[in-house]
Amino acid sequence: MNSVYIEITNVCNLHCSFCPCGKEPASRTFMDSKLFEDCIAGAQEIDATNVYFHVLGEPTLHPGFAHYVKKLELTPLKLTLTTNGTTIERTGHQILASPSVRQVNFSTHAYAELPRETAERHLQNVLDFCSLAIVERPDLYINLRLWNVGAKEASSWNSYMLMRIHETFGVDITPGHFCSRHKSFNITGRLYLHEDTRFEWPSIDERGESRDNKFTCWHDRALLSDAEGVKDERIGKEIVAGTCRALDTHVAILHDGRVVACCLDHSGQITLGHIGEQSLAEIINSPMALNIKEGFAQHELRHPFCQTCSFCKRFK
Ligand code: SF4
Ligand code: SF4
Repeated sequence: MNSVYIEITNVCNLHCSFCPCGKEPASRTFMDSKLFEDCIAGAQEIDATNVYFHVLGEPTLHPGFAHYVKKLELTPLKLTLTTNGTTIERTGHQILASPSVRQVNFSTHAYAELPRETAERHLQNVLDFCSLAIVERPDLYINLRLWNVGAKEASSWNSYMLMRIHETFGVDITPGHFCSRHKSFNITGRLYLHEDTRFEWPSIDERGESRDNKFTCWHDRALLSDAEGVKDERIGKEIVAGTCRALDTHVAILHDGRVVACCLDHSGQITLGHIGEQSLAEIINSPMALNIKEGFAQHELRHPFCQTCSFCKRFK
């Protein structure tokens, strides 16, 4: 396992139209220190080398953000921080000062929906951080993410960003060069522009069924896989083909300690256990986790939530 997503908070100060954050009636909270320690102990136990501080939410809003980064310094774990950049003026020096921070991803596509003056101010702060990082932390990877390629309403913001990158770093990135195999453009040193299209968050209805109800029921499938010789035709539903790297390269822990298969499962549809009650190694080796993982290896999406997921189609 390479990475563990630790959602240190599901609070965010923005309300992007494409994000479930803030749209659902979930309680908004900050992960407490004890739970965080369980998470980093679990990450080390399963030999992860990298942690993220998000699933949903803006991690730098956590009042203990700097403290949690410091705690990582006592471990071999490295942090890939994904942030909307709105607090970078305040938190930038802490980030640059920590050898545990290996990479920073700025979700600059979020600014496309803000009033222009606010968006330009946030971008300026992010670009100032990048300029400082190039000098003070040339080892730090930075991605300016524009994950809105093709969204008409974002095109004016995207053009503005390319212009500001040119003005700040003297580098031209031509719009239209993006394709599925070419998403990352070097600006200078370890600073990159990373473009991608938007993806749809997987979702499942309250009855636990995927959108069109034609797929294999997870509980039936789990029972059948335990029942030797019973054929899938007995279910009378379609096996959905697909694969995913979740539970192989990464796993996620929500703000309240629920362990889920991936960083897209923000509402705990694939809850595998609780980090406050069991070790992470036990949880990722539970029968449910192993069944899902075995399905991925056999190109079967066995969980209904995965059957609604367009992200996994990228790995077909
Ligand atoms: S900034 Fe990130 S977490 Fe916040 S609403 Fe936008 S996409 Fe969601
Ligand atoms: S298929 Fe989608 S929902 Fe399922 S584990 Fe993978 S990324 Fe998550």
